[in-house]
Amino acid sequence: MTGPALDQPNENGRSGTVAGLPALRILLAAPRGFCAGVDRAIQIVELALLKHGPPVYVRHEIVHNRFVVDSLKAKGAVFVDELSDVPETTQPVIFSAHGVAKSVPADAKARNLVSIDATCPLVLKVHNEAKRHFEDGREIVLIGHARHPEVVGTMGQLPAGAVHLIETEDDARRFMPRDPERLAFVTQTTLSVDDTAAMVEILKARFPGIAGPMKEDICYATTNRQAAVKAIAARIDALLVVGAPYSSNSVRLVEVAERAGCSRSFLVQRATDIPWDKLDGITSLGITAGASAPEVLVDEVIDAFRGRFDVTVEIVTNAEENVIFNIPRELRDVAPAPARAPQSKSGR
Ligand code: SF4
Repeated sequence: MTGPALDQPNENGRSGTVAGLPALRILLAAPRGFCAGVDRAIQIVELALLKHGPPVYVRHEIVHNRFVVDSLKAKGAVFVDELSDVPETTQPVIFSAHGVAKSVPADAKARNLVSIDATCPLVLKVHNEAKRHFEDGREIVLIGHARHPEVVGTMGQLPAGAVHLIETEDDARRFMPRDPERLAFVTQTTLSVDDTAAMVEILKARFPGIAGPMKEDICYATTNRQAAVKAIAARIDALLVVGAPYSSNSVRLVEVAERAGCSRSFLVQRATDIPWDKLDGITSLGITAGASAPEVLVDEVIDAFRGRFDVTVEIVTNAEENVIFNIPRELRDVAPAPARAPQSKSGR
């Protein structure tokens, strides 16, 4: 990760002030928005539609964003809660970026359904770590949020009882392993970096022999977006995080900003959610977006402020991202090469 750097301010296409409108400086955090795993998952659905024609079935929201889901629905994707909701068909069924329990592809195979796995490779890496620890005879602690699809998928890689979920520091203090010498931890990829580090520290202090990754399994995109928010938190009167309320990494960005001293931090799905009554008197505003929020929604939010303020935009870049994941082999014949870049460049 590189240190904080200021990009050239965007002059908003105007010089001088807009008569009658108060000035507002928007600090646009970078990186923000789509990560490589989300970008890949959306491409997988689009390419499957191109190759097979509609409908293609998608188990769960492909990524946690209503706008993205609705856009794909309009193109012919059919979202289902469970595999049992997919009819007998030769059309493919796609598993979401969050990953699925082992039983899901097994059920698909048993029904002769054609499945395509859009699980993020960084989530698959956690699945593989958990399986390796299990094969080594270790009891596994998963740090994560109960019922989140990624946690359900990771726990579902192993037999019931093999993985213990820890959600809080208190959980980490109370956890009693069968054998402290045969213990390992893995984590959800979209957690708070600071909270997770605290839980890992407690576990390591209690069980010095615990095996695990060098730090944790929080992915580069989650880490970078949280660091980018910390980099602007002291300079802003309020922060808007564009993202869904059920998007773990988006919710974490609000918490990170609050802890970094920006008490007026809000999650908005799009411009209609902007809490104008809570933004009285602001002269500076931070904007970021969770890893599943498209840049078009960030632009929409900025445009809403242009209607009420004389806006200038400053992009504050805290890290460069150039991660791109390969798409599955079965779709490469219809894929453009190379895959499109994950980080949008909009700063208007
Ligand atoms: S947030 Fe991280 S783990 Fe999740 S899809 Fe994006 S890159 Fe993959």
